[in-house]
Amino acid sequence: MNRFENFCTRFVQSTGKKEGAVSPVITGSASFAYGDSETAEGIFEGSVKKPLYSRMGNPTSAQLENILADMDGGIGAVVTSSGMAATTLATISLLKSGDELISIGGLFGGTYSYFSETLPRFGISTSFFDVDELDAIKDAVNENTKIIFLESVGNPNMRLPDMKAIAKIANDAGVVLIVDNTITPMSIAPLKLGADIVVYSTTKIISGNASALGGAAVFRAVAEGEDKFKSARYADIHKFIEKIGKTALIANAKKRAMRDFGMSASAYNSYLTMLGLETLPLRMERIIGSVEKVVKGLNERGLKVNHPCLSFHPHHERYITDFKNGCGTLFTLDMGSKEKAFSFLNKTKIATLTANIGDNRTLALHMASTIYRDFDEKTRVFLGITEGLVRVSVGLEDPLDIIDDFLNAAK
Ligand SMILES: *Cc1c(COP(=O)(O)O)cnc(C)c1O
Repeated sequence: MNRFENFCTRFVQSTGKKEGAVSPVITGSASFAYGDSETAEGIFEGSVKKPLYSRMGNPTSAQLENILADMDGGIGAVVTSSGMAATTLATISLLKSGDELISIGGLFGGTYSYFSETLPRFGISTSFFDVDELDAIKDAVNENTKIIFLESVGNPNMRLPDMKAIAKIANDAGVVLIVDNTITPMSIAPLKLGADIVVYSTTKIISGNASALGGAAVFRAVAEGEDKFKSARYADIHKFIEKIGKTALIANAKKRAMRDFGMSASAYNSYLTMLGLETLPLRMERIIGSVEKVVKGLNERGLKVNHPCLSFHPHHERYITDFKNGCGTLFTLDMGSKEKAFSFLNKTKIATLTANIGDNRTLALHMASTIYRDFDEKTRVFLGITEGLVRVSVGLEDPLDIIDDFLNAAK
């Protein structure tokens, strides 16, 4: 039995209802009536668990939050208007001017510019490391380090982290580890591997059909005894821990990010995301199988393919031992030059040219002229962006059709 079987049961059982409307109900109200003043007081105080106002939470979004928290074994989740909003919520709710971040691997373009351009404007700096620079990462941690941030799979460099080793560094140093698990939902369980917070862009494979922008942050419980969140490093959230206990990280995120920045998910998008979730395990299982077939097929025919299922990839061993359920939908092709990449992309009949990933359809894009066009040469080298690099996200099509089409387009 693979890891996805159990998710098939959980997702369809938790989105549907046994009585009344089977499909999740969309609560299309921005505000909620409290009935009487005592109830209003209780809701604002937190003692009455009823909706307050849709910026702070919505019943449809709450259903999605419960499913995603359960998926990762978290105590709770907060869904947001986009994946970037989830990263912003998870980080900004812990940060203040003077703090430092350590960013490992990847990195998604939006996250990179958030760390390298936006956060510095508020006095927060980030240092960037490759997944294998473990000693340098250990040395970089100091008393101002608040967050170690890691992507589960390097996008688009396809490098795989040793998540347990990185979690050990974070835990030994008492620093929070946030993992962006957008590419590998279900395949990788960051909280079980030692992370504290998991963030997702649900826009990608969780929805699967480009119908809804969305994101989520899943939080672990704050422990009753010793916990890194109780150290002086995280003094700012101690009041939530004292008042609320194990779900303090959610209250902190809602009050410090959601309430003041307003990156709330819409009920309609949460509904569409749940429709996608119902078939996520089936789509994931099919696509990770197809990725290997397509990658190996194209590699055998002489194309320059980058994916850790290939024996010469530097993280092939790690792929076999730590990524038993694949590493998501992506691989890259190095066509050698921008001209050859453009020719390939203009000739492919199967791939849709777009910046999205994790779709039911196969998607492809030239990296240097699009997502990474504003990045300087040094950054592109660090992120593995070469002139001819094409990122591919494999979809549900017959893998043999994809191979045929790509070989033809590469001619
Ligand atoms: C797309 C993506 C994001 C951002 O998500 P949006 O929903 O587009 O805001 C963050 N991280 C990764 C790995 C992504 O692929």
